[in-house]
Amino acid sequence: MIIVMKPESVESQIQEISKKLQSLGLGVHISKGTQRTIIGVIGDKKALCGIPIELMPGVEKIVPIMESYKLAGKTFKPEPSIIDVNGVKIGGKELTIMAGPCSVESRAQIMEAALAIKKSGAQFLRGGAFKPRTSPYSFQGLEGEGIQLLKEAKEATGLQIISEITSEYLVEKFIDTIDMFQIGARNVQNFQLLREVGRSKKPVLFKRGPATTMDEWLNAAEYIMNEGNYNVVLCERGIRTFETATRNTLDISAVPVIKALSHLPIIVDPSHAAGKAQYIASLSRASIAAGADGLIIEVHPNPMQALSDAAQQITPPQFDCLCKDISKIAEILGREFQYGS
Ligand code: PEP
Ligand code: MN
Repeated sequence: MIIVMKPESVESQIQEISKKLQSLGLGVHISKGTQRTIIGVIGDKKALCGIPIELMPGVEKIVPIMESYKLAGKTFKPEPSIIDVNGVKIGGKELTIMAGPCSVESRAQIMEAALAIKKSGAQFLRGGAFKPRTSPYSFQGLEGEGIQLLKEAKEATGLQIISEITSEYLVEKFIDTIDMFQIGARNVQNFQLLREVGRSKKPVLFKRGPATTMDEWLNAAEYIMNEGNYNVVLCERGIRTFETATRNTLDISAVPVIKALSHLPIIVDPSHAAGKAQYIASLSRASIAAGADGLIIEVHPNPMQALSDAAQQITPPQFDCLCKDISKIAEILGREFQYGS
């Protein structure tokens, strides 16, 4: 970081600050311009924790020069991370496709969805068991029973399973059954949940919140990583804008921006971005073309009868067509996706 001194600051104030920094084991680099003096601070700024340098006489402001998200940022690790979920690698050459219904509704429904998406080439089955609904009167999910049904679908298909965890008290319920935690948009800054999931070391799909900046998102990912869990995959799922034609606005720029700022893989959820089934294929193709490492798509055997997010779920045949397109786009980009099981 650098400390910018006020134009009227005097030499004794500069010396006072330098002495303070040095006493904390930090290096000091003073640069005197015609208008102002700037003090460069060299070393780990953790040493300054709780010390209000900005209140010292003569200081105008403090400017951080490095992101505060050290573990999630590229400075810490310039090469891209590949997250291994029981042998399925996210962030490498191969694209990862996660698909399944918004909510697990019954054994028949989740089994039908699982068999269909597997046939098209998906590697992960998604399905919400604990649903974070806007209204408390809406379907809240099958909870523990939903987790068990996902387990059965995994045993029948060999797909990896991912489901949203809404509270730190649920980690134990999920840990032996689910292959990857999903942290939803509403919980992006639920720091207690992030810490607990971090301690579990299980891979996490970490969605962006509807009003979360990239900086806030990566700082939130830092909470998971700071507990020793580096198995984090980011997921752009649309942000809230003035536009009402879609449920959210897919921020496609999140893909290249995250690639520039972080080594973590990023996938896209076009379903919660668009909110309408008719736009899913187009947004999916665009996301892969933009460099996303994969997709998470809501697929329901009978969307009209879905108990949540009915308007945005696509059918298995629609998903199959999309997977065919994805494999062609992958080839152009020098990536891989195995269409068909
Ligand atoms: C979901 O994936 O079903 C979900 C609720 O998504 P989001 O957290 O992005 O709203
Ligand atoms: Mn949903």
